[in-house]
Amino acid sequence: MNVLISACLLGLSCRYDGQSKQYPAVSQLQQREDIHLIPFCPEQAGGLPTPRDPSERKGEAVITSGGRDVTEAYWRGARQALQLARLFHCSLAVLKEKSPSCGCGRIYDGSFTRTLTDGDGVTTQLLKENGLTVIGEGQIAACFCTDPLLK
Ligand code: SF4
Repeated sequence: MNVLISACLLGLSCRYDGQSKQYPAVSQLQQREDIHLIPFCPEQAGGLPTPRDPSERKGEAVITSGGRDVTEAYWRGARQALQLARLFHCSLAVLKEKSPSCGCGRIYDGSFTRTLTDGDGVTTQLLKENGLTVIGEGQIAACFCTDPLLK
């Protein structure tokens, strides 16, 4: 099966600070012959540079720490993520937790104080609205060990 995955989890240096965010469980997925990971960074695809200012969702908007509204770039990247997911027939995405694009269930609250609140990143929201299952990297072990289709 094809699984869309946040590129930073695979070691690509695409995060806002120019770093990656490799996660041990991802390398286990990489070794499985039945799983094909499709890496994607919606913020880069949306036209934002790397490195870039940190951003957080604030209601429907996405705002940089400097107060710039980057909402349109975030949605542009989200739409491209959906397009790629459809192209590769992905029904599952593994996305980086807490990100304003990729966060799933918990994201920073827009105050830039490292405070988490309930909610999804923009890309996660769009993928879910279009029928994909989205999990964070912390759910890989549980998801791929308990789902009979993914064991
Ligand atoms: Fe990683 Fe997603 Fe942020 Fe890109 S947008 S750096 S893939 S968390």
